[in-house]
Amino acid sequence: MSIQVTSVCKTYQTQKALNQVSFSADKGEVIGFLGPNGAGKSTLMKILTGFIKPNSGTVFVDQIDVLQNPKAAQKAIGYLPEHNPLYSDMYVREYLQFQASVYQISKLIDVTVKEQIEKCIAKVGLTLEADKKINQLSKGYQQRVGLAAAILHNPKVLILDEPTTGLDPNQLLEIRTLITTLGKDKTVLFSTHIMQEVEAVCDRVIIIKKGTVLIDKTLVELQKNHQQIIKVIFNNKVNATQFERLALLVSSKDLGGHTWELTFENKEDMRPKLFYFAQENNLTILELSSVNKTLESLFTVLTSH
Ligand code: ADP
Repeated sequence: MSIQVTSVCKTYQTQKALNQVSFSADKGEVIGFLGPNGAGKSTLMKILTGFIKPNSGTVFVDQIDVLQNPKAAQKAIGYLPEHNPLYSDMYVREYLQFQASVYQISKLIDVTVKEQIEKCIAKVGLTLEADKKINQLSKGYQQRVGLAAAILHNPKVLILDEPTTGLDPNQLLEIRTLITTLGKDKTVLFSTHIMQEVEAVCDRVIIIKKGTVLIDKTLVELQKNHQQIIKVIFNNKVNATQFERLALLVSSKDLGGHTWELTFENKEDMRPKLFYFAQENNLTILELSSVNKTLESLFTVLTSH
């Protein structure tokens, strides 16, 4: 087990931030840690990385007790904090060299520090920016610098606190792709308050609210339990009564312009059935897509006041 958190509680003065939080993660899992602001995500990440201590509970990373032995556990962890403190006057490569020397990573890797820095620069796609000053980079590229620094020592576990906050849509996609790539050989736990992000990147989602875990499920499990919504655009007019012949139909909603949102019980993929339906009714399907509205609405319901 890469991460094992058991019954963790944390109170700041009178503010309860975490209440009996337990979960575990295996090697190779990418877990989205989802919750509204103030849910306790950063607090748990700071506990996992040994920066603060819980009031009770146990935390193991790579089988090492983080509370008893934080220094050893930190060798297995790469951490990108929410407000990633970069020395913006430094050049990218220079900053990574500085980090490598401060954390004495030469003891933790089996190649030279120089080789390792170049490897990490390439891995996060910073080759063309490596000789630029950090303050000349966009926010997306600055996040890459943070990620490169977090993986310098080949950690088995990556903990990323809201790594996509403040990025524009293109940068967001790039960082998501990067997280997926890094997740191939590491356990990744990253926090976000965006459901689509979890759907795009994660195998599993843990939803937390007011310091309590509400849901801990794989995305497949989460989707299986919900209805299947399909948006379809026909070339011609359809009456709602025509859809009644479709098995498993729960509801149909006319969105205008021959566009319909059809909700089915989630027992089988209904898309092929819709093609047969169109054929039988002399219709052509101009566009067909699955709508993942259910997960989004599930998150809203669970986390709203
Ligand atoms: P999230 O990362 O999900 O936004 P946090 O872990 O930052 O949530 O915060 C959880 C709760 O703990 C919030 O109510 C927050 O105000 C409180 N909190 C966080 N850090 C401190 C602190 N250092 N002192 C007092 N309260 C804190």
